[in-house]
Amino acid sequence: MVRGVVPRQAGRTGKQEGPARRGQSRGISRQPKETRKLHEMRFPPPAAKPKPPKAKAVAPKKAGRYDPTSPERVQEILRRLDQLYPAATCALHHNNAWELLVATILSAQCTDVRVNMVTPELFKKYPTIEDFAALKPEVLEPDIRSTGFFRNKSKSVVGAAKKIVSDFGGKVPDDMDQLLSLPGVARKTANVVLGTWFNKAEGVVVDTHVHRISRRLGLTKNDEPGKIEQDLMRVIPREKWITFAHQIIWHGRKLCFARSPQCVDCALENICHAGDKTWTTVEMHKNAK
Ligand code: SF4
Repeated sequence: MVRGVVPRQAGRTGKQEGPARRGQSRGISRQPKETRKLHEMRFPPPAAKPKPPKAKAVAPKKAGRYDPTSPERVQEILRRLDQLYPAATCALHHNNAWELLVATILSAQCTDVRVNMVTPELFKKYPTIEDFAALKPEVLEPDIRSTGFFRNKSKSVVGAAKKIVSDFGGKVPDDMDQLLSLPGVARKTANVVLGTWFNKAEGVVVDTHVHRISRRLGLTKNDEPGKIEQDLMRVIPREKWITFAHQIIWHGRKLCFARSPQCVDCALENICHAGDKTWTTVEMHKNAK
């Protein structure tokens, strides 16, 4: 080895040590232009591989998959409900919007039969909204005690009466937002009043029967009334919102009980795939675990 000339050592990183000087780059680029051209002619760089064409996004095939909310199935459910309950309507006795509103407030956690036993005497005692608005909630409590939760219900009824008198000229409003502004009134009560009395389909009544049976029929997977209502509003045609709720409530009272539904007598049986059916003609249910 010539003295004073030390070969470059590989650094710890495996790269040659010593930074490249400004304007210099590595490899053949240090060579003069002509030499570089010559080199490229002799050793042409490998042609760039053509990129494979991007795969087109393919939507998952829906055909053939069971869809419990398909329009055809929903129409069939509605058709059978029409046959079963052609005259289904609200079971709460009432003569005007105010009586229906009071009865609906009282029906929370209580049977319609019980409410119907209480309201005739109640409206005889306090015939107008103004009569209710003039009450203190404690005065009303004994009259509605048998419907349960009577303290809260008294506050709601008296509070609603006061607001209707003060803000709406003594008339029950036929507007969802205005109804929702009344004490003790949520969407279920508002939908009952709007649908049954005013014949306005602003939503779907979701009571305990609609909640349970909509899930059994696969019309919703949700468990929260607000979300169930949204699901039903999506899959059921608007002109059926009012009737559908009445029919399902009747179905829940007559056959599709919370415990031991009477599937053997149910006209929806062969299109119902509820996990807690008590009887079935559908082969796939028999094999289901
Ligand atoms: S088949 Fe049974 S679970 Fe299904 S809707 Fe009828 S009664 Fe209810």
